[in-house]
Amino acid sequence: MDKARNNIAATVRRVLRKRPRLVWYAAACGFALAVVLAVVRGCGGGAPKLTAIPPPTEEEKGDVLVTGYCSCGECCGWRRSWLGLGPPVYTYGPMKGRRKKVGVTARGTVAKHGTVAADPKVFPFGTRLKIPGYGTGVVEDVGGAINGRHIDVWFPSHEEARLWGRRSLKVVPLH
Ligand SMILES: [Zn+2]
Repeated sequence: MDKARNNIAATVRRVLRKRPRLVWYAAACGFALAVVLAVVRGCGGGAPKLTAIPPPTEEEKGDVLVTGYCSCGECCGWRRSWLGLGPPVYTYGPMKGRRKKVGVTARGTVAKHGTVAADPKVFPFGTRLKIPGYGTGVVEDVGGAINGRHIDVWFPSHEEARLWGRRSLKVVPLH
């Protein structure tokens, strides 16, 4: 047994002597693997874990379509002009062609949890709404595709907005 082990060790030594670069290859492979694992596992507790908001109960279901959005260009219909230089500009919706201040609502407030985009003809600006599963929101924004009994509730990340999905809920204005 010892002999066999010595033979293996001798073989390894011989190979390394002949090809010292193998050590570097092995080190590089190990490093690459560590990087891949770190990326896959989210670099160890960087981003907080997202917990999906549970689906509505029968009681909470209603006739207002509630979708989620964040401040990103995909959600808010803006794009940076001219090869990514220059200010972001709306590409569609009621503000098309105008400058977009990212993260700022149509009312000029900073978008945060509780910011709601609605059709002002249905829910006027400033209306406080009780939204099951989301909490209390205030209408401060509009959206290109937000018409009638459809509101959009703000989330801090695109992933959270996506997790919320589309829900038909009993949305109650608070007076
Ligand atoms: Zn988004």
